[in-house]
Amino acid sequence: MNHTITGTTAVVGVLGYPVKHSLSPLMHNAAFVAMGLDWVYVPFSVSPASLADAVRGAAALGIRGLNVTIPHKNAVIPFLDQLTPEATAVASVNTIALTAHGLIGHSTDGVGFLRALTVRGFAVPGTHAVILGAGGASRAVVGALAAQGAARITVIARHPERAAALHALAEQLAPGMIDFRAIPWDDAARHAIADAQLVVNATPIGMAPQAKERMPIPAEWLSAATWVYDLVYTPAPTAWLHAAAERGCQTIDGLDMLVYQGAEALTFWTQQPAPIAVMRAALAAYLQQAQARAVGS
Ligand code: NAP
Repeated sequence: MNHTITGTTAVVGVLGYPVKHSLSPLMHNAAFVAMGLDWVYVPFSVSPASLADAVRGAAALGIRGLNVTIPHKNAVIPFLDQLTPEATAVASVNTIALTAHGLIGHSTDGVGFLRALTVRGFAVPGTHAVILGAGGASRAVVGALAAQGAARITVIARHPERAAALHALAEQLAPGMIDFRAIPWDDAARHAIADAQLVVNATPIGMAPQAKERMPIPAEWLSAATWVYDLVYTPAPTAWLHAAAERGCQTIDGLDMLVYQGAEALTFWTQQPAPIAVMRAALAAYLQQAQARAVGS
């Protein structure tokens, strides 16, 4: 531990189930050290049945902030006093500030997703984005792209009803402004991708350790003009991102989104700018060591 915990240390943490694979403690504790803040970030494994008690208990214990991860991002909402506009829009909370005015729920996933794009110079307004997958991360991505003025969003999904929920979200955020399509994983996907400026993998396909050579769609479907964004961050880069870069595509890995959503959460709690480079370096070093251990084992 590189942090001395005293009677004045402020506590933040993450509620998830399971939570043992979370990289957030690593990233946030590195940030607190770099910022010279007497804060510490800890994991809390909380089952769905214990969620209400955990949130009430966190307030009673004076915990300053929480991240919320699977499976609690929607279920936690009834226990909060206020939501930010971002959390209201996507009906999902991944960050809670426990303040004198009550518990405020925020969603930083969409902000993190967008920030990784915009710092690289991708301008969303007017573009066609294809999103692979229709789960929780896809919801944050669709919400962020719709709010930023994408002209067309195509979701490739196994379950049409999940894609329909994303259509409703896009329509709510940008009424009448988005040409939204939901298509299955077949030849139509290839045509949509040929027409898109941005393709986002919001499925776990390609994630280590299972089938890390698998690609969500063949790299041959991508042209050099397409921006390719993989939310998966292990391995870094994924086989798909590696192949996309070889085809000349601009690529963005999931580590960027992870860092930027964490940075936004940290600022929400502390009201201070987050040391983004420190947070990214802490994660990258850890993942590199983990990958080296996996190769060696
Ligand atoms: P989720 O809610 O379980 O959704 C996963 C989506 O992928 C679902 O729509 C699912 O289809 C689809 N899918 C899964 N396996 C598939 C397959 N073999 N073929 C086709 N579709 C498949 O998960 P999530 O929370 O959205 O997370 C998705 C990925 O994003 C994970 O790898 C996660 O680690 C990553 N992520 C990264 C960040 C970041 O900060 N970088 C943040 C959030 C998530 P069905 O709907 O048909 O089941």
